[in-house]
Amino acid sequence: MKRVGILGGGIAGLSAAWSLEKARRSGQPIEYRLFEAGERLGGVIASETADGCVVEAGPDSFLTEKAAAAQLCRELGLGDELIGSNDAERKTYIVVGKRLIPLPDGLMFMVPTKLAPTAMTRLFSLRTKLQMAREFLFPPAPATNDESVAEMTRRHFGQETVDRLVSPLLAGVYGGDADQLSVRAVLGRMADMEKKHRSLTRGMLAARRQRGTAKGPAPPLFTTLRGGMSQMVDAIASQLPPEWVHLGTEVHAIDRMESGGHGTPRGVSGWTVETPFGREVFDALILALPAWGSASLLRPIDHPLAEALSGVAYSSSITVTLGYEIGRLRNLPPGFGFLVPATEKRALLACTFVHTKFAGRVPEGKGLLRCFLGGARNDELLDESHARLTAIVLKELEQILGLKAPPSFVRIYRWRQAMAQYGVGHLERIQLVRDRIAELPGIALAGNAYRGIGVPDCIRTGQEAAEWALRAVDAAAVGAGAR
Ligand SMILES: Cc1cc2nc3c(=O)[nH]c(=O)nc-3n(C[C@H](O)[C@H](O)[C@H](O)COP(=O)(O)OP(=O)(O)OC[C@H]3O[C@@H](n4cnc5c(N)ncnc54)[C@H](O)[C@@H]3O)c2cc1C
Repeated sequence: MKRVGILGGGIAGLSAAWSLEKARRSGQPIEYRLFEAGERLGGVIASETADGCVVEAGPDSFLTEKAAAAQLCRELGLGDELIGSNDAERKTYIVVGKRLIPLPDGLMFMVPTKLAPTAMTRLFSLRTKLQMAREFLFPPAPATNDESVAEMTRRHFGQETVDRLVSPLLAGVYGGDADQLSVRAVLGRMADMEKKHRSLTRGMLAARRQRGTAKGPAPPLFTTLRGGMSQMVDAIASQLPPEWVHLGTEVHAIDRMESGGHGTPRGVSGWTVETPFGREVFDALILALPAWGSASLLRPIDHPLAEALSGVAYSSSITVTLGYEIGRLRNLPPGFGFLVPATEKRALLACTFVHTKFAGRVPEGKGLLRCFLGGARNDELLDESHARLTAIVLKELEQILGLKAPPSFVRIYRWRQAMAQYGVGHLERIQLVRDRIAELPGIALAGNAYRGIGVPDCIRTGQEAAEWALRAVDAAAVGAGAR
């Protein structure tokens, strides 16, 4: 029997465990143990119900076009629970002074694809609109190296587009800083478009023409689970042998064991895992931890690898969810919510109108606002008290929305160093990590530090790590896996 240790019980570790569980059920001679430092599974995925509303502490949905998450849900018998975002109501606003200005129709991330709405919007000055037209007619030369998302946007569409559009979008989605994030890692498709078409607008229009040939209505942009994202976590947990899942068990150290140890074939090393409860031996390990966590465990084993991993920056975030009687939200504009540019000098990064975004998660007669704070911009807020954070959010909502009514409940969740930030040069860094890890037979990495921070990407890394582990514990394949 071969043994695999999984470190970290977030969605990446859980999807690795589920893949190994399926292999075990199909008769493969394998067992595994999952070590999770916290007292619950799911990592940043956590949902609760308050006043009949589904409140998401972390992610509230995933991108529909990334199939891994919905596929996993179906496999777990949750197909009927999947719901799409209410895209007929999709409208997002940008806060400018005391006004909420809707994003113009036809905007594909930062790329304008429709002439009239771009010409009419109050979001951009005439100067920016002229630069957008020039981008189509006389595009800038493509970048030869990786650059920040802000740099690429500035070259094509000017600084105002960075300030009013790209920075708030990235802060809202990634808790990130447009001046730091890598175009190639975060917007790889745009980097390719620039290479091919020079003009991003031309590239987007070409992509849209191609998509236009696909038949049927467009799928919803976001998908989620009716009862909350943690349904996915609970469904996986219910399939794993409980005695193989160790909660409240932080891994303090790992070490390489030379051949001849627990069932390891000749010439192949095993690995030890140390926790406060003792030492266990495995044939392979899946490190489904934040990069800083994997770095600290790998430092005594491979210093350059640990250095490369600890170079992946992380940002922290806070979500503040406020419940209301819907009558109190009469003055809310229609749409999914708003984003706040850093130039507005506010604590709020974004606010989602949850009752509009998804049907069926908030009972009739209720409304739910989910606010984001922190991010790369405002880390110190993490240490503020519940009362202070509530006061900050209520004050800013009053200034932005004119909302004076007190909420019927407030839920606050703090996520320290949870969101990986793919800085300029990220892809080269990750290639270095892959090269070094290939020298450590029996170790695989999974999670949000590598090739996508969204839930579907994390699921995919967990599945791939499990497939690799299954090959690696087969003596002939040790060290040959693609990690
Ligand atoms: C507020 C917020 C909103 C988000 N919104 C979305 C969204 O809407 N859609 C989307 O697709 N993505 C979203 N994301 C991103 C996505 O949710 C995460 O990237 C993903 O869930 C991370 O999963 P993971 O398993 O890699 O890491 P984590 O969830 O961070 O799990 C890692 C686990 O490892 C454990 N651990 C750490 N060290 C040790 C150790 N030494 N020993 C044992 N265990 C250890 C931790 O306790 C943790 O449980 C959001 C993230 C946040 C924080």
